[in-house]
Amino acid sequence: MHRLYENSDISVFWDSDKCRHAKECVTGCPEAFNINRKPWIDLKEAPTAKVWQAVSKCPSGALTCVYDHGIEVKLDKDNQCSVAYDGDKRIGECDYRIQNGVYVIYHTEVDPSYGGKGIAKRLVYLVIEAAEREKARIIPTCSYAAKVLED
Ligand code: SF4
Repeated sequence: MHRLYENSDISVFWDSDKCRHAKECVTGCPEAFNINRKPWIDLKEAPTAKVWQAVSKCPSGALTCVYDHGIEVKLDKDNQCSVAYDGDKRIGECDYRIQNGVYVIYHTEVDPSYGGKGIAKRLVYLVIEAAEREKARIIPTCSYAAKVLED
């Protein structure tokens, strides 16, 4: 299971397949990581620096994070894509189509001047998360999306 959690500063990626339940996150930042709550991660409940520190101590790589740099990402189900915005400017997207209930992720692109900020990963995670919530199979024909799923 892949989930993306965001606040106004950072995005946290969680890959449950890698989680070893060592609980460094829970002990390091119980305000944000609480296994007795749904959703168990809530970034609004803790200072960003404390969340970042807890994520960096995750021994399995299940948790990773990036700074948002003011870039917003949104899922646009009607147009079968996720989109990244810098203010009003559209600066990236991840496109998919649903074929016989399967999410085919076929294109991910971010304006190169915004490269290295984790925006593409945020975009792909939004689509993966949407598919997983619908218990749909995912076929990534986009090589970047395939890499995110494999990592
Ligand atoms: S620190 Fe990482 S491996 Fe441990 S419970 Fe948290 S997410 Fe899972």
